[in-house]
Amino acid sequence: MQQAQIQTGKKVALRVGQDDASKLRENTQDFFNALRGKTVKPDDQVLFGDVLLWVEATKPKGVVAIGRDTKVKVAISKKELRQSCPSCGQAQDEHRRECAGCGADLQVVSL
Ligand SMILES: [Zn+2]
Repeated sequence: MQQAQIQTGKKVALRVGQDDASKLRENTQDFFNALRGKTVKPDDQVLFGDVLLWVEATKPKGVVAIGRDTKVKVAISKKELRQSCPSCGQAQDEHRRECAGCGADLQVVSL
């Protein structure tokens, strides 16, 4: 007996700070074009120019390659988002690839 495979679409939920959201709004199409083909996972930080976004969730959970069929949702955070270190928790003063405190890798996806 054959069982039907249920295909569920891939989804990526991103979060962006209020200030960055207005910058992003001017370049939405470029942003989505740049995202295509990138691979993200939850808690990755995405840099589009100097706009910082966080990957809140992915479906399926884990590493997701963003393709044409991927639904990308961007939520706006009322608080300003800052990079922080997953190892030591230190907030970073500027966009970085390594923690200013402990040198840990900051999981940045640059577009
Ligand atoms: Zn650190």
